[in-house]
Amino acid sequence: MATTCIANATIFDGTGAAPFVGDLMIDGNRITSVTPAGSASRPAADTLIDAQGRFLMPGMTEGHAHLSFENVCRTEDLITPTPEEQVFTAARGAKALIDAGFTSAYGASEAKLRLAVAVRNQVNAGRLPGPRIRAGGLEISVTGAMGDEGREHDPRPGGPATIVDGADEMRRAVRLHCREGVDNIKLDVSGDPFYPSTPGHTTPMTFEEIRVAAETAHAYGRRINAHTRSIEGSKHCVRAGVDGLFHTEYADEELLDLMEEARERIFVVPTVGLFHQIMNGEASAHGLSPEVGGHMNIPDLLENSIKTHTELRKRGIRHLIGGDYGFGWSKQGEQARDLQFFVRYYGYAPADALLCATRNGGLAMRAEGDLGTLAAGQLADLLLIDGNPLEDIALLTEHSRLALIMKDGAIHKLAPALTLPPASEPARTPAHSGIAA
Ligand SMILES: [Zn+2]
Repeated sequence: MATTCIANATIFDGTGAAPFVGDLMIDGNRITSVTPAGSASRPAADTLIDAQGRFLMPGMTEGHAHLSFENVCRTEDLITPTPEEQVFTAARGAKALIDAGFTSAYGASEAKLRLAVAVRNQVNAGRLPGPRIRAGGLEISVTGAMGDEGREHDPRPGGPATIVDGADEMRRAVRLHCREGVDNIKLDVSGDPFYPSTPGHTTPMTFEEIRVAAETAHAYGRRINAHTRSIEGSKHCVRAGVDGLFHTEYADEELLDLMEEARERIFVVPTVGLFHQIMNGEASAHGLSPEVGGHMNIPDLLENSIKTHTELRKRGIRHLIGGDYGFGWSKQGEQARDLQFFVRYYGYAPADALLCATRNGGLAMRAEGDLGTLAAGQLADLLLIDGNPLEDIALLTEHSRLALIMKDGAIHKLAPALTLPPASEPARTPAHSGIAA
């Protein structure tokens, strides 16, 4: 196996430790050592990359990926295009993510059942660029709730949701998703501001439907996640064994306690970017002005999101960044903006926000626990950054600052400034005290 040494880096290892200057060795697709400067002589490597003090961190995880969403302004934009076209859309989404430093994508749902499955398979075979993908399928909902675009006179089979009613139909839908290769099942447990007949605080799906879905997904070794904004829906999810809770704006003391008790098991993805974009006027050109957002109850959702997720941060919940990018006003690959939102809205310190993007994401992707931190034995997904994100968290949105993007030990991007010298030279240069610009 080929070995690589990344030398003289400022290493943020994702364990919670303070950054330190040192070297990181990779053999094949695994990290073999992380060594503080001066503690040992550097072993020989086939490839030597002199980081010149740059910031080395684990690759990021998009925690609620919709690979097939691109310039979506209405649900119709998910339903009307053919699967053949949407395969290309999803492939572009995967490439945009890894180009932006997201080496993992934890799937939410897609416009068609097998879009993320197909792209994942191509990426894993090395035939398309993209992150590690836990593929989402269709969202699974119930009659009359979010995702049910049908009407009695105008039935709409074919997306963007599978509609089920009752435990038996639920079991069958989840099994079918598993058969088709989906890694992450997604339920629409609560309502949503985009569906006026079932707003965010409502809970159209029953506990029994959620329980059967979770039991079935786990029986097939898959993960199960839920769109859940309502208090009752979120309680159902925690009690039914759902792994990932998306949005989760509304909470009471009992829900917060339930989630804290389950904090070693669950992941929570606030997806706050969408609310910020609407209330900040970024979606106005698409008919979603702050005023329209007001009619949709977005300010109330944002206010509760701030309250709930600030409290969950204090209780040690494993938050993930990302979610609901790929609309007309938010491009795939802009997900690192969420780091700023975590700092601004939920009171995260930049280093802790970065742990959400790296360590927590890795744990959500792989139950093995071998992703999302930089340590011997971990998978080699990592980024070298021009600049220090702990001093300015916004710079992770600047793709030109991504000097190195590595996934599974393979280089996806290497900046010209880091041209590879022969492995035998140069001799160790002194570690830079600052960060190279
Ligand atoms: Zn979503």
